Amino acid sequence: MEKRSGEPANLSLPRVEAYEPLVGCETTDRILDKAHKLSDLHVINVNSTHYGGGVAEILSSLTLLLNQAGIRTGWRVLQGRPDFFSITKKMHNALQGGEINLSELKRDIYEEVVYENAARMHLDHDLVIVHDPQPLPLIRHFRKKAPWVWRCHVDLSRPDPELWSYLSSFIEHYDAVVLSLPEYAQKLTAPQRFIMPAINPFSSTNKDLADDEIDERLNHYDIPTDLPLVVQISRFDKWKDPQGVIDAFRIARKEVDATLVLVGNVATDDPEGQEIFGSLCKCGEERIRILSVQDSALVNALQRRAAVVLQKSIREGFGLTVTEAMWKGAVVIGGNVGGIRHQIEDGVNGFLVDSIESAAERIIHAVKKPGLRETMGSKARETVRSRFLMTRLMEDWLDLIASFEP
Ligand code: UDP
Repeated sequence: MEKRSGEPANLSLPRVEAYEPLVGCETTDRILDKAHKLSDLHVINVNSTHYGGGVAEILSSLTLLLNQAGIRTGWRVLQGRPDFFSITKKMHNALQGGEINLSELKRDIYEEVVYENAARMHLDHDLVIVHDPQPLPLIRHFRKKAPWVWRCHVDLSRPDPELWSYLSSFIEHYDAVVLSLPEYAQKLTAPQRFIMPAINPFSSTNKDLADDEIDERLNHYDIPTDLPLVVQISRFDKWKDPQGVIDAFRIARKEVDATLVLVGNVATDDPEGQEIFGSLCKCGEERIRILSVQDSALVNALQRRAAVVLQKSIREGFGLTVTEAMWKGAVVIGGNVGGIRHQIEDGVNGFLVDSIESAAERIIHAVKKPGLRETMGSKARETVRSRFLMTRLMEDWLDLIASFEP
């Protein structure tokens, strides 16, 4: 990675050029050229957490890459009280098919907290990108001088109709809506665009690790390595189906010996995580380890060492953890839902499952056939290289931004 002027001697930020060995110089030159044409722009992103979850993971990489390519790109985080995040988590659930009692009190708290944030944020940029429902009403409090984009990351295939109609009153003010997949499209007057997320192969979650570095991380958390590891890494969230993973593992253990490791973090905008973690811990057994920790090097080490990585979601806008594990050549078992269906081609670069029983069958299959990591894993890595690296995501955004230019 090259240095940019003013960078401390021992530090460097990732640059588009660093992707050249992975995607080729034709691609990196084309992206830099597109960025150059937009280099007088000042862009701002607003979301609701600094860490925990895919949006923070994407923004932490994409904003740096855009800045390094000459587009001034900022990132602001909404501040909220616990009651605000409890309401927005209910909204998140209801957008993915859960239920919500959308009382007047809930709407008032939601709109009041966003209004307070609007008073503190001075959003007079050339492009404002608002992520997910938490900061959505911000747009009501600004005289719009430039395009505003709502980027919704959740699985929108069956949103609660009452909630959707309420949120639409804000969404309709946006100039464009970006969703992960065409099947999430809704009836809206704002144009809808589709951009799938991507990963940063140089981040601490994804960079290459030596065997002794992997051992060190696993030892640090007392994770036993005497048996094959079956792993799921996810926020503690009902849509990630951690209980289903435990049930599948218990069935699989009747045929193969292995250790299950469930790792999750609790994001500040996700108040349900702690409770779900607590209830899962009650089913802890010697061969089931459940950890609540934010350690991206541990995520990396587990995805690299696992015999099989699960992402047994029952709703998933797009599973970054799936792509991260595929990048490391892991055998990945994903729930046959939402974005995962576009990430995994069943039986080719991973497996898709519809039930606890089929997840158990695939765990047994993967543990019994360690050679799968070579065959399936190399196809998985190639899928990520060609479709899900950060450069592709950056180029999709540059094309969208260019489309707003007069
Ligand atoms: N993650 C993490 N530690 C954890 C759990 C998740 O660092 O304990 C990261 C994970 O590596 C991924 C992101 O959080 O980058 C989760 O993104 P994903 O799209 O899979 O799910 P989301 O949480 O956004 O629903």
